[in-house]
Amino acid sequence: MAAAVAAAACGCGPVSQAAAARPAAARTGDSPARPRLPGKGGGPAATPAPRPAAPACPVPPRGVLSAAPGGGKTVALTFDDGPGRSTAAILAILRRYRVPATFFNIGQNIAAQPGLVRREAAAGHALGDHTWDHPHLRALTAAAQSAQIARTAAGQERAAGTVPCLFRPPYGEYDAATLALAGRQRMAVWLWSVDTQDWMADGSGSAYWVARVTGRAEAGAAQRHPVILMHNQVKGNPATVAALPAVIRFYQSRGYRLVAL
Ligand SMILES: [Zn+2]
Repeated sequence: MAAAVAAAACGCGPVSQAAAARPAAARTGDSPARPRLPGKGGGPAATPAPRPAAPACPVPPRGVLSAAPGGGKTVALTFDDGPGRSTAAILAILRRYRVPATFFNIGQNIAAQPGLVRREAAAGHALGDHTWDHPHLRALTAAAQSAQIARTAAGQERAAGTVPCLFRPPYGEYDAATLALAGRQRMAVWLWSVDTQDWMADGSGSAYWVARVTGRAEAGAAQRHPVILMHNQVKGNPATVAALPAVIRFYQSRGYRLVAL
């Protein structure tokens, strides 16, 4: 299983050119976007916090995760690279079936459409950090990786009032620095165990792509705890939207409980 996970690659490319030209980081170093502890320093609490502190995350497990949590048979639907053109449609389907999912959002897309991120959070879905602009993290210094993660976490906090407790590295690529940084920011690092390759449809919603995404998603029933990788990119993923109801019904009919990470 580990080999299969490692071999799978999130081939999704950068989501928009707009932010590629932007400086990678608003701040450097590794200051996480986490509420400061009050009273540190011993002086009177004279300085009010700039904004209400979002609840902190629990201490995450070590290492990299790729099995859906919970007893019995569980399946986790995950949507990367958003928010984007298909996010609202995905939220509507999840609401119709009353099932949770996990959105690994890109910071620059959060900044562009904070309202969609607010809706994801309000609907009770899990939100994860997927970096600011989808770089290959192993090519970056630890400081640059930290900025990618922290800037995105701050963006989610601004948009939705919560900090991400989950992190998924773009393309599934990470190094020791990534794991250390995520751990320091109390984010569990998640990959996946089922790759639908839905990004390859490149905006097509043709019957071919709907069947391909559906088939690849349903192949996860060979596992008891599949984590399914799908996308909601800026340009939209109509094949993913079209496949989603059938994928949900498929897993429910086989006794799986849909869970958020
Ligand atoms: Zn991605």
